[in-house]
Amino acid sequence: MLNFDHLAVNQQGHLTIGGIDTTKLAQEYGTPLYVMDEDKIRSICRMYQNSFKKCYHGNGMPLYASKAFCCKEMCRIVNEEGMGLDVVSGGELYTALQAGFPAERIQMHGNNKTPDELSYAINSGVGHIVIDNMDELKMLDEMAGKLHQAVGVSLRIKPGIDAHTHQFIRTGQIDSKFGFALETGEAMQAVKMAIHAKNLKLLELHCHIGSQIFELQPFVLAAQVMMDFMQQIRKETGVMLPELNLGGGFGIQYIASDNSLPYESYMEKVSEAIGQKCKEYDFTEPKIYIEPGRSIVGEAGITLYTIGAVKQIPNIRTYVSIDGGMTDNPRYALYQSDYTVIVANHADQPAKQIVTVAGKCCESGDLIQKDAPLQMCKAGDLLAVLSTGAYNYSMASNYNRIPRPAVVMVHDGKTRIAVKRETYEDLIHNDL
Ligand SMILES: *Cc1c(COP(=O)(O)O)cnc(C)c1O
Repeated sequence: MLNFDHLAVNQQGHLTIGGIDTTKLAQEYGTPLYVMDEDKIRSICRMYQNSFKKCYHGNGMPLYASKAFCCKEMCRIVNEEGMGLDVVSGGELYTALQAGFPAERIQMHGNNKTPDELSYAINSGVGHIVIDNMDELKMLDEMAGKLHQAVGVSLRIKPGIDAHTHQFIRTGQIDSKFGFALETGEAMQAVKMAIHAKNLKLLELHCHIGSQIFELQPFVLAAQVMMDFMQQIRKETGVMLPELNLGGGFGIQYIASDNSLPYESYMEKVSEAIGQKCKEYDFTEPKIYIEPGRSIVGEAGITLYTIGAVKQIPNIRTYVSIDGGMTDNPRYALYQSDYTVIVANHADQPAKQIVTVAGKCCESGDLIQKDAPLQMCKAGDLLAVLSTGAYNYSMASNYNRIPRPAVVMVHDGKTRIAVKRETYEDLIHNDL
């Protein structure tokens, strides 16, 4: 099992999360079930907040990248922790506003925001709209003019950094659908346009170099590249931009061999690099934002499933089928992502077999994990998949008309529903 302080095995050999027996959770709420340890989420939020205080005079703020796990309760938690929020769609913005999240602490991303999404963001008073491309820059300036609003904006820059991550989730290099390229001069052109745009107020430069990154060096490099670009901007335009957003991407532990860094070390190293550049260029320290998503919720969440069929194909493989699958966790199907699986009601047993965990969808690719070590198990046992707090619920679908599971929060030894389980009625709600 992974060595997380919110997970343990009790005397009955059952997996616990936040001190709660997972078999009790399954009995009370049914399976499949997402379970999130709220205390773990809050402790990571505080760690990020403290790292700003400790390393950067509190001059900035972490924004939670809500796409990792977005629901009203999560927005409330982030708000209570005093952080900002990053949203990438009208739907995420709506969820945040409905949860009472202050619009001025929201940054709105997206490589193809629709006119409706942009006017919604402007009218709601979103603090920064992060512009991705020239079409958007022009459209936003016009819209802001028509709505008689001055809009705070940021520009998404491709710093051209290879963060050694899976190519599906690599977004910093030049061949990416996100942002303005530095090398081609496109980024500088966008900066000049934004500075001269009548209805836009350019506050910030933004970059995001990828996801599930385990090294600090790419982040330090990105910060340096962005500071160099800020200096170039000052030289060419006389404008010194006051804010820098360095994105998210910090890796978490899915399997024992994932070596995630202590997240404090991020602000330590990056602050150092920015401080040096400020000295070199005689800059006032910019306000810094970061956008952790996965690292705030990923490890805090587990998914509980009931095991159904166990199919042994001699000399080939054993399929352990569960009552969920790619509808609640599409990440293996999308990226062959690694996960740790465990028989939650025999969590004290050694993992003696190698199995393939299969979902219940009509799709051969509907797997949660291939060739994973697992305790011996049979129909009716409870399977836990660890580190499912990020990009599971938020990526869930209703393929095969399978209802989405509930999300239960564990806090202070108590449990509560954060998102209700979908019903069959919910599935036909919009059908005419
Ligand atoms: C996805 C994304 C994030 C969060 O990335 P994580 O790997 O979950 O930390 C932050 N910022 C932007 C712009 C993103 O697209």
